[in-house]
Amino acid sequence: MRITCVGGGPAGLYFSVLAKLADPSHEITVLERNPVGVTWGWGVVFWDDLLDDLFRYDKVSAERIWESARKWDEYEVRATGKPVTHLAGYGFSLGRHRLLEILAERALELGVTISYQDELSDIAALPPADLVVACDGARSRIRDSAAEHFGAEVEVASNKYIWLGTPHVFDTFTFGFEKTPAGWIWFHAYPFNSSTSTFIVECQPSTWAALGFDSLDARAGTAKLQEIFAKHLGGQPLIDHRAEVGGTGWLNFRRVTAQRWDHGNVVLMGDSAHTTHFAIGSGTKLAMQDAMALADAVASRDALPVALERYEHRRKAALAPLQKAARASSAWFERFEEYADLPAKRFSYALSNRRGEYATWRYLLHMSTQTRVLRTVLRWTLSARRWSRARKRPVTPGRPMLTNTA
Ligand SMILES: Cc1cc2nc3c(=O)[nH]c(=O)nc-3n(C[C@H](O)[C@H](O)[C@H](O)COP(=O)(O)OP(=O)(O)OC[C@H]3O[C@@H](n4cnc5c(N)ncnc54)[C@H](O)[C@@H]3O)c2cc1C
Repeated sequence: MRITCVGGGPAGLYFSVLAKLADPSHEITVLERNPVGVTWGWGVVFWDDLLDDLFRYDKVSAERIWESARKWDEYEVRATGKPVTHLAGYGFSLGRHRLLEILAERALELGVTISYQDELSDIAALPPADLVVACDGARSRIRDSAAEHFGAEVEVASNKYIWLGTPHVFDTFTFGFEKTPAGWIWFHAYPFNSSTSTFIVECQPSTWAALGFDSLDARAGTAKLQEIFAKHLGGQPLIDHRAEVGGTGWLNFRRVTAQRWDHGNVVLMGDSAHTTHFAIGSGTKLAMQDAMALADAVASRDALPVALERYEHRRKAALAPLQKAARASSAWFERFEEYADLPAKRFSYALSNRRGEYATWRYLLHMSTQTRVLRTVLRWTLSARRWSRARKRPVTPGRPMLTNTA
């Protein structure tokens, strides 16, 4: 089969790997508009569920992802006027650059052709292919060129956000809320290698305008954020890549949905089909799980239209609960004032239960594990669970099961 993937993000590259593994005779080309090694964004987080899937589908790339990932324990919650509290849990993070490097390297090893600096401007200009995978991100040109067919809708969230990086290496996933005279502004930060952390800043539009971000350029805006969050940054700067090229990195999250995902031999995958708010950190995971489901469908003996239909149904069913959670989560941050004055422990519990689904025992566990001793016991218990889950994965002998735990 001749397959063209438009977009060399996590979805497109991972699909090319899995499709080639399933059938080495496929001729697969990935078109990517950026030069090799260039991408947007910083580090992304993920959890055991994605790792289990990655090891099941391709052990080689899974091991490389695992070795490069930063492991962190628990969440720290800081808020002006409140003592620091903690939320139970653990996770992993990895720089987007490193993830794409691993996936591209694996794709090339298997014989996929990756054409960098190759931007598709018109789908009619594509060479003939049996299957065209539109994995060209949230602003997909392919989806928008047949908008009436795909039934795509874009809902724009009200809060403003900016995705920055910093050389300050946070110990663990940290939420920080600062009260300014203009209103509350907060960050979601986590380390993703030994020298860099992701630092996403978010606030309501009224605060954003009152702080002057509507008129500051990228450089001045970043300097202002550095001043607001100085006590969290250990003297290190915030970095906005856009400052080097002008413009501003402030955005409103765009929630994309599409009623249909296929049209003839064209199929949507990853952010081009659906986006999921970053407050639950799952877009990359869902894009890679789309790639797994599409590769399974293509490998089946079904006719292409049937296979694509099955892929869409499987993924829409899997996405529904996470999209509900993402909506509840982003709405929590949009209604932030309702929670801002809660006492520290109740505030951090409200943050962790922003989907509103937790049973009472979780509240009791949260309140009782804010003391150092009980918190440590809970951390050990969760570390044991992570270790035991890692042991069940088919790691090549000699490779580490757990490294660089934060
Ligand atoms: C602030 C923020 C934080 C996030 N944090 C997380 C997180 O912690 N965990 C997580 O799982 N997800 C996170 N995400 C979501 C995640 O980044 C996306 O869901 C994921 O990148 C989707 O992958 P994709 O391959 O579908 O699209 P993309 O990663 O957008 O890749 C699309 C690719 O297509 C290329 N392209 C576009 N148009 C063309 C064209 N016409 N021709 C050729 N190439 C083209 C682009 O250059 C790009 O390389 C976050 C998102 C944001 C905004």
